[in-house]
Amino acid sequence: MSTVHNVIIIGSGPAGYTAGLYAARAMLEPLMFGGYMSGGQLMLTSDIENFPGYPKGIGGPEMMMELREQAERFGLEVRDQNVESVDLSERPYKVVVEGETFLTHAIIVSTGAESIWLNAPGEEEQKGRGISTCATCDGAFFKDEEVMVIGGGDSACEEATFLTRFASKVTLVHRRDVFRASNIMYERAVKNEKIEIKTFRQVKEWLSDEKGLTGAVLEDPRNGETENIDVTGAFIAIGHKPITGFLGGQVEVDEEGYILHKNHTMTSVDGVFAAGDVVDTRYKQAITAAGMGCQAAMDVEKWLEDQH
Ligand code: NAP
Repeated sequence: MSTVHNVIIIGSGPAGYTAGLYAARAMLEPLMFGGYMSGGQLMLTSDIENFPGYPKGIGGPEMMMELREQAERFGLEVRDQNVESVDLSERPYKVVVEGETFLTHAIIVSTGAESIWLNAPGEEEQKGRGISTCATCDGAFFKDEEVMVIGGGDSACEEATFLTRFASKVTLVHRRDVFRASNIMYERAVKNEKIEIKTFRQVKEWLSDEKGLTGAVLEDPRNGETENIDVTGAFIAIGHKPITGFLGGQVEVDEEGYILHKNHTMTSVDGVFAAGDVVDTRYKQAITAAGMGCQAAMDVEKWLEDQH
């Protein structure tokens, strides 16, 4: 408890590891709490094709392991533990992990975001019994079965395409006829013979029997007309929400819960910085998260210097 760290980094996606790499190379001896599931969302991603420097693409977990290794080589200490809470009422700040309190001058929050669920009737009971938010994790359970994916963004198109490796048919269900997904992801889904796209449909309720999911009632949002779809697997890909609960409302966030930057990457609390999807309402890419992690570490270094 008596050691005061220069900087504690909370969260271990591309933003956190890049912040760790820069802070370590700046001799700040950073400590990272990377979470029990360290590596963030990319641990659940199959192939990353748009991170510069990987002409053949790279697996998400593989990239996270390399980022970690690179940062550790320069001295980043990573603990695969979750932060329970922080106390930002006085300096040094307190970070509580499994009942133990760590003191630090600065904090970088890079906790990223977690999947949003639809919360349609019957969903809670079928989570893990057919309904999932992670095709990479659960797709292989649906070999030669019919599944559906809900959403119209990159995640939905990517997951639908990925699931065709296993499923006999994938229905991509979107609530309107305009897709947010990038052209390349959308086109890949459209051209895939195993994928059927259903627009103007949303899940009204989930259907199940004693074995698990059997399908859903889909509703046309324009006129309320319904139809049933028979699937044994459903993957919800309707976006993510930032992970900030452990901050206990001590850092200013916007109406959707994203942390607000006040001065470059510094938040509303002096010495508390944030990077990656936990602040990013717009880009949400591995490369932009990594870039912001670099900025946060450089801002911490400058801020610490200014404290003397
Ligand atoms: P997103 O772009 O926010 O798309 C979410 C989709 O879900 C939208 O089409 C939205 O419909 C739909 N939706 C939201 N709430 C819904 C509800 N209650 N019921 C039915 N549909 C609902 O989220 P994302 O696809 O997860 O992507 C997030 C970010 O990550 C994006 O910036 C994306 O580019 C990035 N990403 C990149 C890659 C890659 O480059 N490899 C892969 C995955 C994600 P509306 O369009 O009608 O609002």
